[in-house]
Amino acid sequence: MPLDLLAHRTEDLAAAARTWFRESKGAGVAPAVHRAAVREGIFDPEGLGLGCFAAERWREHAHLHLPEIASEQHEDTPTGPLRKRLLRLQDGRTIESVHLPMGRGRTSLCVSTQVGCARACTFCETGRLGLLRNLTPGEIVAQVTLAHRTQRPDTIVFMGMGEPLDNEAALLQALAVLTDRHGLAYAQDHLTVCTVGHVPGIRALRELGWKRLGLALSLNAATDELRAALMPHSVRYPLREIQAALLDYRQRRNLALGVHWCLLPGINNSKADAKAIADFCAPLGRTFVHVIPYNPGSNPIAPAPTEAETVAFVGELRAHGLAVRRRITKGRSVMAACGQLGERGLSAERRDLGQAD
Ligand code: SF4
Repeated sequence: MPLDLLAHRTEDLAAAARTWFRESKGAGVAPAVHRAAVREGIFDPEGLGLGCFAAERWREHAHLHLPEIASEQHEDTPTGPLRKRLLRLQDGRTIESVHLPMGRGRTSLCVSTQVGCARACTFCETGRLGLLRNLTPGEIVAQVTLAHRTQRPDTIVFMGMGEPLDNEAALLQALAVLTDRHGLAYAQDHLTVCTVGHVPGIRALRELGWKRLGLALSLNAATDELRAALMPHSVRYPLREIQAALLDYRQRRNLALGVHWCLLPGINNSKADAKAIADFCAPLGRTFVHVIPYNPGSNPIAPAPTEAETVAFVGELRAHGLAVRRRITKGRSVMAACGQLGERGLSAERRDLGQAD
């Protein structure tokens, strides 16, 4: 089976290439092959000065496949233009990735790790799809490569479709490729994994020993009872176990752990909720609570919070001494905002493709 160029680090590619060639010249282009593949989405061994035989060898043993951009939607936001792409994979399934403007010319790419998601969070459109399949490491990296061709995203957040740690092996391999200094060369602290609280997965990230890798918990409910109602497939690990795993994850004092709170009026925006978040965060050291106003999808469980409700809740959190970032809603008009990925077209595909599985 040919080796997926987007799924391997330079050194692994070079080691494989040494087994394909007797002469060093054929294998010696591995760093250039890797760089062109992950940065530009190009696989052109002939263009690297190899003869026909060596180029043919590369083509026999390696391949590069970028998803097709099935559609692209844009929205002007206060911090710049937002772009949502629907990407068609080789098997016909589709995923979404969103290029977000962060202000001052900086951008962040929100990437997917699964087609759909098994977690069924009640406030999330992707959760309604169910899990169709995991992405491969190459399919995760390909989203970055495609974005990179237009503009290099400054940061990558694993907050698109899917629970990244439900696809742990592919996620870890994609992280290795993204941080390969010979290729895309992302610094660890420019990457953030967002999880609903997958305790073994958090421990696996800890095992990497990467002291700067960003980690965020999608909390949304600060009692196990409310979490069971809002995130029914994430109750396996109680909050105290998640808290312990997060505590253990911190390998340097000033790492800021993200705590995400999708603000659902009438469900999780009371003073008691704010106090419960403060209690949850208290032992964790440096945290940033990201308040994300709910973006109603196709089957809303609450209205979007009003400006006054959002400001009041943020104020309540700050009164408890928490560092809070209030997310400006971006992408709602094109169903690209948090919790909205997996729009109706994908649901139709699930009927057409997924249920045959
Ligand atoms: S919020 Fe995340 S984990 Fe929950 S259903 Fe949506 S994609 Fe899955």
